[in-house]
Amino acid sequence: MIRAHATPEENADAGRRVAVRVPLPVGADYTYGVPEGWELPPGTVVKVPVGGRELWGAVWAGAEGDATPASKLKFIAEVAPTPPLSPALRKFVDWVAEYTLSAPGAVLRMVLSVPAALEPVTGPSGVVRADAWPAGVRRTPARQRLWAILESREPMSVAEAARLADVGDAAVRGLLGEGGLVSAALPPPEIFAAPDADAACPVLGPEQDAAAAVLKRGIGAGFAVTLLDGVTGSGKTEVYFEAVAEVLRQGGQALVLVPEIALTAQWLERFRARFGVAPAVWHSGLTPAQRRDTWRAVAQGEAKVLIGARSALFLPFAALGLIVVDEEHEQAFKQEDGVLYHGRDMAVVRGSIEAIPVVLASATPSLETLANARAGRYATVVLPRRHGGAEMPTVDLVDLRKTPPETGDRGRNWLAPPLVAAIGETLEKGEQVLLYLNRRGYAPLTLCRACGHRMQCPQCTAWLVEHRDGGRKRLQCHHCGHAERMPDVCPSCGAEDSFVACGPGVERIAEEVAARFPEARRLILASDQFSGPGGAAAALDSIAAREVDVIVGTQMVAKGHHFPGLTLVGVVDADVGLAGGDLRAAERTFQLLHQVAGRAGRGDLHGRVMMQTYDPAQPVIAALAKGDRDAFVAAEQTGRKALGLPPFGRLAAVIVAAKDDAQAAAIARDLARAFPKAEGLRLYGPAPAILSRLRGWSRHRLLVSAPRDVRLQPLLRSWLAGVAIPRAARVRIDIDPYSFL
Ligand code: ADP
Ligand code: ZN
Repeated sequence: MIRAHATPEENADAGRRVAVRVPLPVGADYTYGVPEGWELPPGTVVKVPVGGRELWGAVWAGAEGDATPASKLKFIAEVAPTPPLSPALRKFVDWVAEYTLSAPGAVLRMVLSVPAALEPVTGPSGVVRADAWPAGVRRTPARQRLWAILESREPMSVAEAARLADVGDAAVRGLLGEGGLVSAALPPPEIFAAPDADAACPVLGPEQDAAAAVLKRGIGAGFAVTLLDGVTGSGKTEVYFEAVAEVLRQGGQALVLVPEIALTAQWLERFRARFGVAPAVWHSGLTPAQRRDTWRAVAQGEAKVLIGARSALFLPFAALGLIVVDEEHEQAFKQEDGVLYHGRDMAVVRGSIEAIPVVLASATPSLETLANARAGRYATVVLPRRHGGAEMPTVDLVDLRKTPPETGDRGRNWLAPPLVAAIGETLEKGEQVLLYLNRRGYAPLTLCRACGHRMQCPQCTAWLVEHRDGGRKRLQCHHCGHAERMPDVCPSCGAEDSFVACGPGVERIAEEVAARFPEARRLILASDQFSGPGGAAAALDSIAAREVDVIVGTQMVAKGHHFPGLTLVGVVDADVGLAGGDLRAAERTFQLLHQVAGRAGRGDLHGRVMMQTYDPAQPVIAALAKGDRDAFVAAEQTGRKALGLPPFGRLAAVIVAAKDDAQAAAIARDLARAFPKAEGLRLYGPAPAILSRLRGWSRHRLLVSAPRDVRLQPLLRSWLAGVAIPRAARVRIDIDPYSFL
């Protein structure tokens, strides 16, 4: 650690100043003086005084022309013991800020997200035995035990040595102080042990082999994006593992981005089986110490392979050689607060800046990616078949108009007779059933039978969702987290026992399964059922171990899992995602249902999918029934092209929020009035958002569309600069929006 000991006036070199980017949402970098004798190349991570506190930032450029008077100049206080941020990473930060219209400091904050990792390393250093017992030092029995267990001369942590020798930590430190032991660095923890590229190479099928060869050839050969387009169960993971192996052979690091890191237990096991050790992981559930160690290991180049959520894209890799985006079509890659960016798109940007290959893997690629592939910007490798001869499942539609669910003694039911029969047959054979409904809780709406009052969130334009936890009924807002006990009487008319639950959530479907198949072992798989990643992993294990017969799950189950015993997938409501949807509703529904269907029959047993619908002729539903992805994509593309929607045009959303609705509406109108006239540029709105109140804020939206070849950012920037925004209001710009609520 370097500290400025002298006062700034004493050690100032009047000419030497640098521009430091601080991790704050401010418009510009700040200038600081460089203490004499310090070398601070661009990218150096430094601690600087900012408004009465000290923050870690990064030297971004020189500041020769800066005119701050010497008396006002503040000085850099400290240099972090971490390699400087690479030119590529700095360029990436600039690029993301420019593209998303975010403050550059807000993007840098995602890079320097773990300030503890920048503090001097005080990590647990270990001890070894001295060469010989030092003369004059007393030999107690405790010390003799210590001496003996350190015989191998491998460094050991103080705690470990104390435990093995059955002495206190103080005894270890005592002998260390007297020269009987010597400090020694401990080897890096096992989690960052280097994976072995050749630990256990799988025997690839011919198509897998050809695909892997293409990906391997790309390693070390510069920037290129390849779409790995393979049906569910085709072995996409095995194939991109070969590219990861090649990166390891060449001494580089690989990053694998996944949409839902809590659910990667199976993936981690497969990685360990293939490479001998576990990879590093990155997600919001890490402990502070894990975050710190992982950040450092990535920056030092020790962590060779990292699997992470989208935020991993901003880590300071020392030698990044490959980025894989698994399930690239997933909307979860879009960050919806703070800096609004799309992880897949920014992965491609980082790949291009780092001059490394990017692999996008999916069984249902996004229309954006397919358009890029068709235009020749991305290469494509295809895995047309499931691995090991497993067949694709048969998809049948259950027409709810012809065969509606029968009313039972408990009231309404949701599973129609053909699906109920299929569940019975599957259970009879000892195989597993997955019932899919993308709705958490018991019922999405509660109303009063007496007066019609609907239970609504006090903070949001949203119905409260009923959850049942044993006998207790709770109401929850899925937007802001507001929760309350189900009241005893209707808050509007005072009627008792008047509430009815409307519509099903997964808990209600599980209840119906319990009534119809009391013997079946049930499991609800939804994000709110587990406290942490460990809980979800245990649930998935119990499915794989066939300890569960019927799984009722939300989209949490759609992704990537492989359950050989699962042969029936029932989609409770195939229409739900299509109602009142945004521009991607059809695409998303197709992807989700196709993925869910892909869970069926992945082993030796044939799989079957039944989708309940009121509208079998609906194009998305019909395409799913026929398994005709190409027809669906073609129709969807034609529709989008005609309307100039992504990927054939550009969109940006502007969201105006204020506590006072009139104020938000007025700002939105001002913005509309000031909207620039330019070729092809169009404005929709302003209009109250669908979620017109969220967490107590009133929201209005505008939507800008432009042809693909128009650069929207400069236009948006000058437009917004021309409208005064009161401090009490917030205006957010969402480039390439995915949420339209
Ligand atoms: P996808 O991601 O394309 O849906 P996976 O990569 O999950 O498919 O593979 C499906 C299953 O097949 C996994 O259990 C995987 O381990 C297995 N598998 C795929 N390819 C091979 C192979 N070449 N050798 C052995 N097992 C394979
Ligand atoms: Zn709410």
